[in-house]
Amino acid sequence: MSWKDILITPVHQWLAPTVGSCLTCGKMIRAGGCGVNGFSQICTACYKLIPWITAPRCPVCGRAVGCPDCSRTGQGARNFLLNRSAVQYNAVMREWLAQYKFRGNESLGPLLAQMMNYAMRAMIEELRVKSAAPKHPFDIITFVPVSEERMLERGFNQSRTLAYGAARGARAPVLDLLRRSRHTEKQSSRNRRQRLMDLNGVFEPLPDAVDKLEEHLLSKHLTQRPVRLLLIDDVYTTGSTMDTCALVLHNICRELGRPAEIYSLTWARS
Ligand SMILES: [Zn+2]
Ligand SMILES: [Zn+2]
Repeated sequence: MSWKDILITPVHQWLAPTVGSCLTCGKMIRAGGCGVNGFSQICTACYKLIPWITAPRCPVCGRAVGCPDCSRTGQGARNFLLNRSAVQYNAVMREWLAQYKFRGNESLGPLLAQMMNYAMRAMIEELRVKSAAPKHPFDIITFVPVSEERMLERGFNQSRTLAYGAARGARAPVLDLLRRSRHTEKQSSRNRRQRLMDLNGVFEPLPDAVDKLEEHLLSKHLTQRPVRLLLIDDVYTTGSTMDTCALVLHNICRELGRPAEIYSLTWARS
C-alpha cells in the first residue's frame, strides 16, 4: 500500500492484509479477492463482468441466446451429445482470453481454469438432474490440441490448462489423445463452410492414444457400458472443431470395440 493509498483508504481497511492487485484490472484487492465462489484473484467489479451461462437456451450446444445453428436444415447428427460453456464470449471475455493466449499473461491461467471448474460442476449437476447421470459422469477428460507450430510460439495449450481446471475433483484423468496433423488458418477469419472444409483431416489420434485409453479403462474395470469422454476447448463458435475431434475420439474407441458417449465443455460460447 503506497502513502497515497493510505491517505484515501478508510481506517478499518488499513488493517486488512493486502494480497496485491486484481489480475484483470490491476486494482488493489485484499485477501480473498471478490470473495464470491472462491475467486480470490479478481475484484468484485471484475467478477461482476463475467457473463456466466447459467441457463443455456439451446440444449444441444449450450448457447445462452436463441440458436439457429442446431436447428439448421442439414445440420445432421453431431458426433458429440451436447456442449456446455462457462461464459458468453463477449468483449471482456475476449480480452481476458487474448491476454492469456496471445499476450503471454500466464497468471490468468489459474483464473480461467477455476472458471472452467465452476462450469464443470454446473454441467455435472445439470446432467444429474436432467438425465440421472452419476455423480462422476465422465471416465476421461481430453482436450483439443494445438499445432506444434503454435505450441512452440506460445509454449502452452490453453485447452490443456482448461481441461486440468475442469478435472479438479471430477475423478477422471486428463488424457492427451489427439494431435493436429497440420496447421490451420486462424478460424475466426473464416466462414462456416470454409471452417468445415479446413478442418477435414486436421485432427488425428496420437500414436499411443488407443493404448493409453485401453490401459485406463482396464485399470478402472470400465468394460461394460459406453466410454464417456469429455472434450475441452477454449471457445465454441460453430462447433465444427468439437465435431471433428469427437469423430476422431469415436474412432479411437472403435479401435477398442467400445461405443463412446462424447460431451463437450468450453470456456466460452460465441
Ligand atoms: Zn478488477
Ligand atoms: Zn444450438
